[in-house]
Amino acid sequence: MSAETVVILGGGVGGQVAANALRRRLGHEHRVVLVEKNTQHAFAPSFLWLMVGDRQPIQIMRDLRQLVYRGVEVVPAEVLGIDAANRRVETSAQTLTYDYLIVALGAELAPEAIPGLADTAHTFYTLDGAARLRQALQDFSGGTVAVVVCSLPYKCPGAPHEGTMLLADYFRRRGLRDKVDLHLFTPEPQPMPVAGPVLGDAVRQMVEAQGVTFHPLHKLTEVNVSAQTLIFEGKEPVKYDLLVAIPPHRGPRAVRESGLTNEASWVPVDRHTLKTRHENIYALGDVTAISIPGRWKPDVPLTLPKAGVFAHAQAEAAARTIAAEITGAGAKGEFCGDGYCMLEAGESLGGFAFGNFYAEPTPQVELRRLGRVWHWGKVLLEQWWLAPAGLRREALHLALVVGGKGLGIPVTI
Ligand SMILES: Cc1cc2nc3c(=O)[nH]c(=O)nc-3n(C[C@H](O)[C@H](O)[C@H](O)COP(=O)(O)OP(=O)(O)OC[C@H]3O[C@@H](n4cnc5c(N)ncnc54)[C@H](O)[C@@H]3O)c2cc1C
Repeated sequence: MSAETVVILGGGVGGQVAANALRRRLGHEHRVVLVEKNTQHAFAPSFLWLMVGDRQPIQIMRDLRQLVYRGVEVVPAEVLGIDAANRRVETSAQTLTYDYLIVALGAELAPEAIPGLADTAHTFYTLDGAARLRQALQDFSGGTVAVVVCSLPYKCPGAPHEGTMLLADYFRRRGLRDKVDLHLFTPEPQPMPVAGPVLGDAVRQMVEAQGVTFHPLHKLTEVNVSAQTLIFEGKEPVKYDLLVAIPPHRGPRAVRESGLTNEASWVPVDRHTLKTRHENIYALGDVTAISIPGRWKPDVPLTLPKAGVFAHAQAEAAARTIAAEITGAGAKGEFCGDGYCMLEAGESLGGFAFGNFYAEPTPQVELRRLGRVWHWGKVLLEQWWLAPAGLRREALHLALVVGGKGLGIPVTI
């Protein structure tokens, strides 16, 4: 067996899990190389808590090297290009050659794609954005707050709804709730359409119970900054005092220019194996486009949502397959489409949606009743994710698996 090099691009959720899973499975004669431009990793689900003052940035950030096992070679560099024909990756630090490549570069935010948006909108979709929004909220004394999902797809279909409910709770805690008019706009026909109408209705009710006005089928085309007005396709303009956007998403530049992507800028992969159409190149997580059973509209097939829980499970599957191919031992991995989501609702309450997104003829997803247990489950997930690779992390993982079993949920992470 010759010594092989697996290069992983992107040290976010999927990249870290893939690197650790490969390091566990491969002998040290094989290299596991992880390329990441931000060596301070931030846990995205906690951006919502940062926004409302329940976390400090330092509490939700870790040095990437603490999160991966010893023996994972972390290359702090920007990926500039992928040369699939010659099995090479250009980075800002060096050129890397690989035997296997895993592309886990996530999604890029493109606020400049909508005129006026970048000049005025806040966002809780980045660490810096959530920190700035927190300051803006502290200075806010009342008026119309518009949370706008700009376009599809976007990562974490639950996050805009959670963010809006946490904003309602935040204003309530500050005694300002009756001075704030909260609105949630989205181009979708209902919350989380991929999960079906029953779940969509339930989430809509959760949001509306917080006094939020939900506006489906609103596609933002422009922001008139001087008039503080939102322009939606075919709708009346809407005035706002504070704008919070989920900006348009697209595939990262290095991937768009690599020839790996479809016309929408995402990397198509086999939905079970995560293989791309290029030999020995896998892609996983937000950077991928995966069609799933069912239709959103008669002419639009459903795609797997972009979420950390999927990036995680896909990374385990791809790593297992690569390790089996390299060592000639062990079973290959397969991603089966299971996923879940803990939805923060404010007042330390949460909901829990879980199911199989590959189920035929459409995804089968159910929502558990609001409860504190789901909020605390999300806190536990955060603590586990940010724990250094090692014993403490293993213990927290065990707590998640055992807790999940106790609640009748097969925790697959
Ligand atoms: C506010 C918010 C809340 C969320 N809540 C949840 C939740 O509750 N549950 C859930 O499952 N998901 C949630 N998500 C989604 C989840 O964070 C993402 O789906 C997940 O991180 C995707 O993993 P990934 O590995 O594909 O991409 P990422 O985790 O984004 O990792 C991509 C990595 O690639 C790096 N990178 C990009 N380009 C380059 C380059 N050119 N060179 C080098 N490095 C590069 C980035 O710095 C990044 O570290 C949430 C997201 C947000 C924004």
